[in-house]
Amino acid sequence: MPEIKNLIIGSGFSGAVIARKIAEELGEKVVILEQREHIGGNSYDFKDKNGIMIHKYGSHIFHTNYKDVWDFLNKFTSFNTYMHKVIAIIDGIQTYIPFNLSSIYDVFPSSLAARLENKLLENFSYNTKVPILEFMKQNDEDLKFLAEYIYEKVFLHYTIKQWGGVTPSDIDSAVTARVPVYISCDNRYFQDKYQGIPLEGYTKLIKNIINHPNIELRLNTKFQDFKETYENLFYTGSIDEFFEYKYGMLSYRSINFKFEEYDREYYQRGAVVNYPCNYDFTRIHEYKHYLDDKSEKTVIAKEYSSDFEPGKNERFYPILNAENIELYNKYKKETEKLKNIYFFGRLGDYKYYDIDKVVKRAFDVFENFKLNHNSIM
Ligand code: UDP
Repeated sequence: MPEIKNLIIGSGFSGAVIARKIAEELGEKVVILEQREHIGGNSYDFKDKNGIMIHKYGSHIFHTNYKDVWDFLNKFTSFNTYMHKVIAIIDGIQTYIPFNLSSIYDVFPSSLAARLENKLLENFSYNTKVPILEFMKQNDEDLKFLAEYIYEKVFLHYTIKQWGGVTPSDIDSAVTARVPVYISCDNRYFQDKYQGIPLEGYTKLIKNIINHPNIELRLNTKFQDFKETYENLFYTGSIDEFFEYKYGMLSYRSINFKFEEYDREYYQRGAVVNYPCNYDFTRIHEYKHYLDDKSEKTVIAKEYSSDFEPGKNERFYPILNAENIELYNKYKKETEKLKNIYFFGRLGDYKYYDIDKVVKRAFDVFENFKLNHNSIM
């Protein structure tokens, strides 16, 4: 008999959700290993001395159209009704992105803005989201001008900073498509039905999810140093690390945050301000906006993108180029030879998931596990 029935590697959303499902719905024991000193992976947050909830690894904003994901999480937290808006500073002017019909009026003289707006409405249906690389394929001179403007002012330099010197056409097109050109007056970053920030933070939410008598959490514990035997393994770490990098290392982008405290109530108008064209940081987060924390001081974080270096910083974003996808596929093929081992999460699947997709994927892995499980019982 293995010493541990179900072993889970990682206590981010992936690990926490599957732990809860196994513990509650199958009534089985689960052990979660977490190599960091805290739970929650990169969604970890904490209240600082001023009572401001800080997202240690950058802003996490929950949004989803999946009712099952929303309902599941609402069993463990309440959410506020925060709907994210991102300000971008373009030539010193503040506007909202995704770049939309109201942004046009912020950055251009009103006669030109009206002409561009009319052209857009003649060529696209209202409420359409157009990825910038698609939007560049215009024949009309005015729209070409607009496309080049948006490409240059919103995407080009931000992407070069964020992705380490590469341009939007050199990265997976789905990445820039996350922030489309939006034929709408909706200034929000997301249009999902359900949006919000957990009222007591993400760490408390994860803590509540794994708070079950069948779940044991071991912090500061690396899988590599783990000697006990187990029956089923749920691995949410980076897949290349599991296989000891035998085919090579998958690359990731990391982030370095420079935190600053100010002796004033607010630093900027919203939680996130992007600086596509200026400075070496990509954006500035001001955390008190998320939960409307009251303090005479404020804390901001300037976000600097960097290469991921094992042991020095954390993995944030998979770099989805042809070389890495081929490498990932080699590891994926290896997993097919393994029994009772499941890989998932941003690092386990090497996918640029948002939180809701991570939760949904954990649901799917659980359903799949249940099927295998029932067939051997
Ligand atoms: N992006 C950009 N300019 C912006 C915002 C985003 O060029 O002002 C591009 C950039 O390549 C970025 C991608 O769109 O990596 C996705 O942005 P998103 O805000 O979704 O990134 P996340 O919040 O996941 O870091």
